[in-house]
Amino acid sequence: MAERAGEKRFAPGELSPRSGVYRITHDGHRPDHEAVVMGGVRFPQCRICGHAVRFELVLATKGSAATQSQNPSILIAGSEPARNFRTILAERGYSVSVAADATQARRQLQQTPCDVVITPLDLGQSRSGLELARLAKQLDPKPLIFIYTSDPTTEAMREILRTRVDYCALEPLNVNEVSTALDTLMARRSL
Ligand SMILES: [Zn+2]
Repeated sequence: MAERAGEKRFAPGELSPRSGVYRITHDGHRPDHEAVVMGGVRFPQCRICGHAVRFELVLATKGSAATQSQNPSILIAGSEPARNFRTILAERGYSVSVAADATQARRQLQQTPCDVVITPLDLGQSRSGLELARLAKQLDPKPLIFIYTSDPTTEAMREILRTRVDYCALEPLNVNEVSTALDTLMARRSL
């Protein structure tokens, strides 16, 4: 169901009232475009025009999940603990696949494009999660990288920053944090 156009325009920082297709208007540096934004996430700032960007709902989707055809896809690499979130993330509208180890994750990444990769910093071997992140960054389209670690040493954090991952979480992972981070990353990606 389409809502009346021009009803309400949201600014960065405001909460998205519901999942749907939003028309995104910038300050003139690029034409209007549309993107799916999940309900309940804060609208992000634009990397170029910052707080000037506006979001207007043009087509609401039913329920809280994204539309079937636009389910964001996630690749979860490694076993525990992220893999335990598989069902919950699927219920929240994500299309989830898993890869047991680094080799399988690399193969899947190259064969099937995805929106987000979730990987531990040490995926089997020390720092192999970062190798996966570097591979992902060479792909087109580039998936977002969500990395987590139980060992946030200064040196590890520096390496994570250098690899420019999109989100870094510390263990123990909490499914609400993961889910909120994913929604926010996806919303930001739409800009
Ligand atoms: Zn902008």
